Amino acid sequence: MSTRLGHAPDDAAEAVFRAGLVDAGVLLETGVEGLYGHSAAYQQIVEALDAMVGRWAAELGATAVHFPPVVSRATFDDTNYLQSFPDLMGSVHVFRGDDRAHSELLRRVASGADWQSLLEPAEVVLASASCHPVYPLCTGRLPEGGRLFEIHGWCFRHEPSVDPARQQAFHMHEVVHVGTPESAERHRDQGLERGLAMLGDLGLEMASVAANDPFFGRLGTIMAEGQIEEALKLEGVTPICSVERPTAVMSANCHRDHFGLPFSIETADGSVAHSSCVAFGVDRIALALLHAHGLTPARWPAGVRARLWP
Ligand SMILES: [Zn+2]
Repeated sequence: MSTRLGHAPDDAAEAVFRAGLVDAGVLLETGVEGLYGHSAAYQQIVEALDAMVGRWAAELGATAVHFPPVVSRATFDDTNYLQSFPDLMGSVHVFRGDDRAHSELLRRVASGADWQSLLEPAEVVLASASCHPVYPLCTGRLPEGGRLFEIHGWCFRHEPSVDPARQQAFHMHEVVHVGTPESAERHRDQGLERGLAMLGDLGLEMASVAANDPFFGRLGTIMAEGQIEEALKLEGVTPICSVERPTAVMSANCHRDHFGLPFSIETADGSVAHSSCVAFGVDRIALALLHAHGLTPARWPAGVRARLWP
């Protein structure tokens, strides 16, 4: 859920869509680009989408787990997120000083000086993806057939934008499989197909494309080329503000041994585990629905309402 689709030339259309959402009280501005509060009606859409993905996950027999929107720094380090997306991550900093340091802190706050440099990194960072906390749960030998998790929650990515579909703090809902190379690919492929069908049934015009993640820097260009070539990650896209540059609202990503290796996860027969996740960008789906069907969910097509609120 991280391609940089939707930037620049069409920003005007995105700004107009955002203004409509803000005027209608659906999005509540905070003074920071890409950071919003939500109305009750918006939250009901989010919850309906969570429930819909949850019904699919239950059908698959996934284990539902819940985690806070912060991740242990040690786990984060092992995900190698910094290798690919250092510019998107968010770190938590805390005050660990004594009385004297506190006086200095207050002096700096009062005088408008830089007080942040008195803080130190905490044991946690903001969650970049919902699935990261499940890998340490799998360390060791997997059961036959691997493991399947359902997990959703708040994620943070630092990419301020006027595009309402590019929020810094947003809701992601994932179904994650850890198993063999074959079962990981199968989960990605079946999940993509099912996800596209579920979202299509909500009246969204869906297509699937190879993901084009915004890997950082010079090394990133090479990684991005490899990603497209191997088509490890696919995205379900739908036009929100632009038909030419549709927005990724879900992804199906095979990580191979990217998590199996650092988290020491083995398949039942003792080889390095592979993993894949099918991720739904719940906020982007909610926005796509609001764009497609209007800002009043009570007036959405009956078939769409019946699927969301069965
Ligand atoms: Zn994931």
